[in-house]
Amino acid sequence: DDDVPWVLGTHLTERCGPLARAPDGNRVLLIEAHGFARRLPYHHHKLTLVFAAMRRFRDRLSDAGYNVIYLKAETFGDALETFFAEHPDATLVTMRSPSYGSERRFRDLVADAGGDLRVCENELFVSTRGAFDEWADGAETFTHEQFYRWMRRESGVLMDGEDPVGGEWNFDDQNREFPPEEWEAPPAPSPEPDVVVEETAAWVESTFDTWGSTEEVRWPVTREGARDHLEHFLEHRLPAFGPYQDAMRTDDWEMAHSLLSAVINIGLLHPLEVIKAVETAYHDRDAVSLPSAEGCIRQLLGWREFVRHVYRQTMPELASANQLEATASLPDFYWTGETGMNCLAETIGDVYDRGYAHHIQRLMVLANFATLWGVEPRELNEWFHATYVDAYHWVTTPNVVEMGQYAHGVFATKPYVSSANYVDRMSDYCADCRYDSDETTGEGACPFNALYWDFLARNEAKLRDNHRMRLMYSHVDAKREAGDLEAIREHVVDLRANVDDV
Ligand code: SF4
Repeated sequence: DDDVPWVLGTHLTERCGPLARAPDGNRVLLIEAHGFARRLPYHHHKLTLVFAAMRRFRDRLSDAGYNVIYLKAETFGDALETFFAEHPDATLVTMRSPSYGSERRFRDLVADAGGDLRVCENELFVSTRGAFDEWADGAETFTHEQFYRWMRRESGVLMDGEDPVGGEWNFDDQNREFPPEEWEAPPAPSPEPDVVVEETAAWVESTFDTWGSTEEVRWPVTREGARDHLEHFLEHRLPAFGPYQDAMRTDDWEMAHSLLSAVINIGLLHPLEVIKAVETAYHDRDAVSLPSAEGCIRQLLGWREFVRHVYRQTMPELASANQLEATASLPDFYWTGETGMNCLAETIGDVYDRGYAHHIQRLMVLANFATLWGVEPRELNEWFHATYVDAYHWVTTPNVVEMGQYAHGVFATKPYVSSANYVDRMSDYCADCRYDSDETTGEGACPFNALYWDFLARNEAKLRDNHRMRLMYSHVDAKREAGDLEAIREHVVDLRANVDDV
């Protein structure tokens, strides 16, 4: 067959796409482009995960009888030239990458190499571009909740005819608990020793300028390993996922999260397969409550699909959006972890150790602080993109730039900012912190507090008329009347002048 599936490092499955339709023994192309891995100071575990998973997938396809052409090169362009020099008859066929501009880039590179490329729908999502666009019907802003309900109806997942199972679409009010002291997080699956991972980890360490720990790469790199992780989650962790999904505890980096995003984002698990498994677990396993199952399915069937389409609809503007005109640099401690703010030090430590921290650590610690500090969204986006094992440009740009930093307004209806109050309620970080979460100014006051009021005062012209901010501005008015805003502003000036000691 002249059609040769070109499998990208994020499409590692033979269960869908051009590879699923290729005849036995067909040629298959995989390219390791090393220059790509030098563009950012990526987490060591992230590069190890992707390269080891590609190498494992190469071996899997060879064992299954495919004629695998596995090229290592500095750039995709170099590898494509090599490929077409040897296979001038071939037409490459690939699933569309969700990254903005990648289709055009790949088309240009293949044309420069004198070859042909066909790009087809990315089947590693539950929804299609056409279906979303029909649903959106030309709208310029989007609401996740409406999209999610539509996806539930279309897919029939957790549906009882026309109605949601249990009669409610949303169990958020039951999913915001902090565990009692005696609660122990269910075990996270421990990494299996894997010689390909070990070799790849050593090679990544000596080849690239990476960030993060080089010890204990824990992410599965094969289909079987990913399936084991899924089963482990369903059995041990899903029952507690719902109620404690927003909670943060110092010694429980994993809490009861699925830890599956990294392998879903490289194609080892299909999102629909995970959604169906969670739905079945709810029906078959007594321990799995509806709020846990629905909370997990919402992330995959709703949020993941939603951000992918919103990204597609709003790029390239979204990547450089900055409606609050934030221009500060990202404090160095995001890279070093050296800060006295315990919530940030612990969370950055988690990211450093494993390339992972959960959604509330991302949103309400890392992005919240950066938004209050006034960090330019593009810079924070790049930090997340580099440091998280599950991060890709289509993932982080909507999550960080829009949800985290309210830089555009395409779906966020207000900034997700809070004072120390939220972190104190949802974590145990404040008890071990050198700062006092109840104080706003003065020696030892938690920086989140003064920064929060200063943020609201600084952005008043842009935010006060937002009806969702009314309550917050009534508190700003009270502080102004009490004459507190000046001291708050001075405290923030001080914090900024001494950022390295915060
Ligand atoms: Fe974070 Fe402030 Fe709590 Fe310290 S007191 S952990 S800085 S919120």
